[in-house]
Amino acid sequence: MNNTDDQKKIIVAIDGYSSSGKSTMARELAARVGYVYVDSGAMYRAVTLYAIRNGMVTPDKKIRTALLTAALPDIHISFRPAGDDGVQHTMLNGEDVEKLIRDMEVSNLVSPVAVIPDVRERLTALQQEFGINKGIVMDGRDIGTTVFPDAELKVFVCASPEERARRRLKEMTEKGDDVTFEEVFANVVERDRIDTTREVSPLRKADDAIELDNGAMSPSEQMEWLLQRFKERSGL
Ligand code: C5P
Repeated sequence: MNNTDDQKKIIVAIDGYSSSGKSTMARELAARVGYVYVDSGAMYRAVTLYAIRNGMVTPDKKIRTALLTAALPDIHISFRPAGDDGVQHTMLNGEDVEKLIRDMEVSNLVSPVAVIPDVRERLTALQQEFGINKGIVMDGRDIGTTVFPDAELKVFVCASPEERARRRLKEMTEKGDDVTFEEVFANVVERDRIDTTREVSPLRKADDAIELDNGAMSPSEQMEWLLQRFKERSGL
């Protein structure tokens, strides 16, 4: 199913909790329908990596907000299209940081970075630019509520924290990361807490989003479900 210019292009917003499988679904949908895929979480992670590298985190793991805010004009984030590995790579000031931004250190600091209003404002503007021509699938926490409130298809993905931690642990272990279930579970729960309670654009289901509890669904069942919703909304 490939999209051509005369077909109606839409915006697909996929939001949900940490490690709910949003990115996998979003990436695969984009590939199947010939849309651009943007992982908005990767953008917050790249800003976090920049903060870590540039002395903007105190020894007791607090973000030096004023310093980071002042440095925002020097932080350039882009994506390199997927190569042989089928995965799009996140670029920070021209450097491929795709692997580094998935580290536990970044995962533990990203939600505190994502509460900073100036960070959100800058990344939201960039995300909106990516979607200017529609034909985009973006996943994150506030895509359907703040970034693209008029998106034609909005999905809100959830699953229990235990299930999400299990999935994340499997992913990280397969990549060779040395982490325990307890560490991953604590990270998932803490990010949920910060993401849902922050003041600016907290994680919540948009009123017009369709909820998907994928706890008991296989990846292929999820994809079938999503493709069906996509066809309904895009008229493909
Ligand atoms: O999607 P991922 O888990 O990689 O996102 C990392 C973090 O970035 C989230 O826990 C959240 O704090 C932040 N985020 C956000 N808004 C988005 C995407 C991610 O605040 N649209």
